[in-house]
Amino acid sequence: MATINKNFEKLASGYLFPEIARRTASWQKDNPGIEIMRLGIGNTTEALPPAVCAAMHEKIEALSERSTYSGYGDEQGDTYLREALVAYYGRYGVELDPTEFFVSDGAKSDAANLQDIFGKDNVVAIQDPAYPVYVDSNVVAGRTGLFDKESGRYNGFVYLKSNEENGFIPSPPDEKVDLIYLCSPNNPTGSVATKEQLKAFVDYAIRNKSVIIFDSAYSEYITEEGYPRSIYEVEGAEKCAIEINSFSKFSGFTGVRLGWTIVPKALECEDAPSGVLNALWNRRQCTFFNGASNIAQAGGFAALSGDGYAQSRALVDYYMENARIIGEGLKKVGLTVYGGVNSPYIWAKTPNNMPSWAFFDLLLDTCHVVVTPGSGFGPAGEGFVRVSSYGHRENVIQAMASIEENLAI
Ligand SMILES: *Cc1c(COP(=O)(O)O)cnc(C)c1O
Repeated sequence: MATINKNFEKLASGYLFPEIARRTASWQKDNPGIEIMRLGIGNTTEALPPAVCAAMHEKIEALSERSTYSGYGDEQGDTYLREALVAYYGRYGVELDPTEFFVSDGAKSDAANLQDIFGKDNVVAIQDPAYPVYVDSNVVAGRTGLFDKESGRYNGFVYLKSNEENGFIPSPPDEKVDLIYLCSPNNPTGSVATKEQLKAFVDYAIRNKSVIIFDSAYSEYITEEGYPRSIYEVEGAEKCAIEINSFSKFSGFTGVRLGWTIVPKALECEDAPSGVLNALWNRRQCTFFNGASNIAQAGGFAALSGDGYAQSRALVDYYMENARIIGEGLKKVGLTVYGGVNSPYIWAKTPNNMPSWAFFDLLLDTCHVVVTPGSGFGPAGEGFVRVSSYGHRENVIQAMASIEENLAI
């Protein structure tokens, strides 16, 4: 008699983006022929860098010949790519070893899978609001009680509130927690942590033998000087932090699929001296994963240096110009906005304390623009919407013109 994993029944509601799609489709049905402008989902829209495409074409050529064909590669990723990643981190003064890198099909699955190597009774701290996979993967794994509708929170998690008062970067918790998820530059709030702010978490983690899971998927979007791009720029972080990152937002690989996770050899926790967590993640990947696509890896390698890097940087600059246009436009209509400077996301306060979903509906109804309700990322996101700069420039300009013309607040 098979039974299901009952933890799935704890999940609060349908995933945020299907609900946005449902409301948008329903509105479109009632308003046929009106063009909807989408600044909602964080999905890249511009073409892949030419150097990346050339490298992937070349790999396909190699695969099409028996003499140069290759099948399964190393589960951890091809050595040449891991060495290139070591060099990439070297630019920021971070010294790592190829055996500390685990190339994957993306940061989202790694973010979900990493909890596999930790005990069920670990207490998990998450930023509120947060990228949903950190929350949902731990709910499904059984690390929480039930969802409390009143507070919008799961029993058992420790929520680190990100709000206007703390500039959307929380401090470490007062109580002892075991796993801490941090994302900087942050999705959804667009905030970025300083070295001092990260150091507070690293010091906390070392003191409490906790492990930080640091998501730096937007590190290439940091435009201002002085912000760390990797948590390993903070002294001691190699003892207490795992870092995940991805080619998705940096080089347009959202559909190609390629990411990486760093589990340092020096990483330790309560019952695991240095080396053990690295070996556990290696064991987990070798058992459950057969390696990332070799075509994607050839593309990723090209994105890390030379023309491929310059072209990837240009892609980031393109989205950041969109972010500037959105930020300016929203300010012009009188909204209070955060983010958008070191991140592709603008975190806008709703007018007159309007709930997130009400403002979502208002923007859709009157301006025909789709954004993401902040409350979908956690209770502290209530009263905000996330505006994404992923879109063609002409669409972004059109959407902002519509907001400037039609939004009455
Ligand atoms: C987009 C995004 C990722 C990237 O996920 P992939 O699976 O590599 O595409 C990771 N973390 C955050 C916070 C993101 O927004």
